[in-house]
Parts: sequence; C-alpha cells; structure tokens
Amino acid sequence: MDFRKNSKVTLTITDIGVSGEGIGKMDGYTFFVKDAIPGDEVSALITKPKKNYAYARCEKVLTPSPFRMEPVCSCYRPCGGCQLQAMSYEKQLEMKQQKVKNNLMRIGGFEETFIESIMEPIAGMENPLNYRNKAQYPVGTDKEGKPVAGFYAGRTHSIIPNTDCKLGANTDGVILREVLSFMEDNHIAPYREEEGKGLVRHILIRTGFTTGEIMVCIVINGKELPHGNKLVDRLLTIPETKGRIQSISTSSNMENTNVIMGKEITIIYGKPYITDYIGDVAFRISPLSFFQVNPVQTKVLYETALSYANLEGNETVWDLYCGIGTISLFLARKAGQVYGVEIVEQAIEDARQNAVLNHMENVEFFVGKAEEVLPEKYEKEQIYADVIVVDPPRKGCDEACLSTMLKMKPERIVYVSCDSATLARDLRILCEGGYELKKVRPVDMFPMTVHVEVACCLQRKDS
Ligand code: SAH
Repeated sequence: MDFRKNSKVTLTITDIGVSGEGIGKMDGYTFFVKDAIPGDEVSALITKPKKNYAYARCEKVLTPSPFRMEPVCSCYRPCGGCQLQAMSYEKQLEMKQQKVKNNLMRIGGFEETFIESIMEPIAGMENPLNYRNKAQYPVGTDKEGKPVAGFYAGRTHSIIPNTDCKLGANTDGVILREVLSFMEDNHIAPYREEEGKGLVRHILIRTGFTTGEIMVCIVINGKELPHGNKLVDRLLTIPETKGRIQSISTSSNMENTNVIMGKEITIIYGKPYITDYIGDVAFRISPLSFFQVNPVQTKVLYETALSYANLEGNETVWDLYCGIGTISLFLARKAGQVYGVEIVEQAIEDARQNAVLNHMENVEFFVGKAEEVLPEKYEKEQIYADVIVVDPPRKGCDEACLSTMLKMKPERIVYVSCDSATLARDLRILCEGGYELKKVRPVDMFPMTVHVEVACCLQRKDS
C-alpha cells in the first residue's frame, strides 16, 4: 500500500508510544497516531510518512476504546501537556506497570516470571488531578488586546488561554484571574516575545500542600512591577486563599530566552520562601529552588525507597544525584550517616539549609558529578557504604559511577528512576556485577502524562 502524506488510513490502535501517541499497524507498517488510545478504531490522517513507519493524527474515532474517557480539560488536545487524559486512570496505571515490566525484560534481560514475582503493583493516586504544587503560566494578549494566561500550544509559543489547568493546585485559577484583572485595570502590558516588548512574561505559583502556604512570583521584562502594592492588596484579599499567600515577588528576566525565571528576585510582600513538608521533613522553597512537583506521591516514592533501604539506625548511606537532599534527609532519621552528591551548587546550598532547618547533623553534602566524586573519594579516602541510593536524571547513571558502586560493595542499592529504559540498562550492569534485584515498584508521580517513576531494591549476592 502507498502511505502518502495527507492520505487517510483506518487503524486499530493496539499500543501506546513513548510520547503517549497511539500505535497501530498495517501491512508491516507502523503508525504513531496522535490523540488515539489503545482499543480505538480510528480514521487517521498521515502527517509524516517514513520508510517503515508514519506519523499520523486521529481525524475521527470510528469505534471508541472501552478505556476512553471524556477529557476533563477543555484544552486537552491543543495543550498536549496531559497525553493520557482521554484514557481511564485505571488503564493509565496498567499501561505504566506494563511499560516498566517490558523495559526490564527487553532491555534489562530479566525473565518475565522473575519480574512478575518481584514487581509490586504501581502506586497510583486516589485523586489523580490537581496534584502539582508548582506551575508557571505564560502571559500573553488575546485578540481583543486583553491579557491572558495559559499554556503554549504544543511545541509552539502561541498561548492558549486557560486559567483552569486540571493538574495545577486548585487555587491557581483564582490567583491567575486576579493578576490578569490587576494588569488590565492598571494597563500593564503582557510581554510580546517577538518584539521583546511588554512587561509580564510568566506567573509562577507554588503551593505547600501540607502547610497550605502559597507563593506568587511575577516574571517581568523589567526591573519593577508598577503598582506592585495594589497587586499585593488584591492578592491578599482573595477569599479562597485568605491567609495563605505568604510570599509575593517579582523576578526580573530581560533576556530573549526560553528560560522562564530571571536570576534576580525582589520580594514585594512577605517571606522570600514558603515551607512545606514531605513526611515530617520540612523544606524551604524559594521561587528558584527545585522541589518535587507532586508532594503526595513523592512521599510514597520516598517511603518505598526508605523501606527498600531497610535501615536499622547505624548505616552509612550515600545518596547520589541528591538534588536539594530530599531523599538524604528523609533517610537521615533512620541512618547513622548520610552523604549526598549533586552537580548543581545551588541545590547543595538548599540541601545544607534544609539539614539545618530539620536539625539533622548526620548529613553531609558534596557538589560535583556523582561519577567523579564517588570514585575520587573511594580511591583516596576509601569511603564505605552500607546502602547506596541513586536517583539519576533520565539518562541514568554514568558507567564510572556504576563501577565504583560495584567496587564499594554496599549491602543494598536503592535505585530510583524516572526512565525505566535507562533503569533497565543499569540494573543489568549491577546484576552482572554481583547484585540481585529484589523488588521493583512503579510510582505514578505524573498522572495523565506518560511519565512513570520506579523504585528498585538490589541486594548483594554474597552478603
Ligand atoms: N533526588 C532528588 C533529585 C533527583 S533529580 C529529589 O528527589 O529531589 C536528579 C538530580 O541529579 C538533579 O538534581 C540533577 O541536577 C542531578 N544530576 C544530574 N547529573 C548529575 C551528575 N552527573 N552527578 C550528580 N548529580 C547530577
């Protein structure tokens, strides 16, 4: 058959791809169909044909999948942030569990029966919406010239107005609408990217889910927000968030760049940070600090990591890729000594402050690459570990890091991963190097999206 651009095909969707697109096959040819889900029969329009596969777009659902749901968000298709919103949450979880299992078999080389015997069911959310504690909404202008906030239409910079994101905290909407109406009343112009003119670029809102504290930061193409005190008055009197907005600031970003936040923060009301907790560990969060975006599931993930670490109280633990020390501090209460390693200096400064905030003296942090710090300390200082925890970025652990871990021979390794493909690759190396995979648990940190986190426990074989 000839699959040309703009021709149509009728397909049954049988699988889902890495970006959430539906996968259908015909005559040995694979189609990646945007906005189609497994179980659908669709009419698809071919947008980009290649030799053995093609990209296509769902034009019409001919027979809907039994897992199809009415998306809760009106911007679901153009925004593209929630790839899976048209699929039932149960099916999303099943799919993520399967994806992790498949990668462990295909890339990790583990047997299916073995994986089934050690894999725990994915931890899903009771309420899979409004889970994000941080959102950065771009600001622009609508056709009538009014300021709007919302989302960039998938891969572009045109803004779809939407103050009701279903993943954002449920008070984000009232705050956004108040900022927009303040801008309109005071003739404050949204930023116009093409010309580099106008003032307001983004609105950042962070919410402490445990403490209820809220931070609002307006990112501006200038040094100062005119009538800032009026904005403060208006935000503080929003009935739905009364008493909760603890920090209002502006961030000056005058560069023509995709980076959202500027480096300089000016506080116009309250504290320079808000506080939140994961379990009983407190964290100070400023406009620029990194913090896990789904605190409810972060707690589930870290509790899993903690139980896999199986600490009795005297252990020496290394936490590699530690960020602001969230896992390190979570484990420190149950360990003898924890060492954290992280490449970003600012994150380590936050980690040290968070240790002080929680009166934890048995943690120490080092700035540097895990694959450099660990071998160096091992060769020079003969450092030791009972347990090593790693939580690397998507590309997984560097080989030098893995080989030093194997030389250090910790009793247990806890691997936390945001990419099950690189996880599977690294697990294979660790298992060939003398470790046994004991437990695997996927955790759904990002419902409605294709992402899935996984915690794994490995035990040294000769221990
Ligand atoms: N464990 C932390 C952060 C995990 S994200 C948490 O749960 O909050 C992964 C972290 O690895 C990021 O903070 C990133 O800056 C850091 N990182 C990336 N490459 C690194 C490397 N080669 N060595 C050490 N840290 C690295």
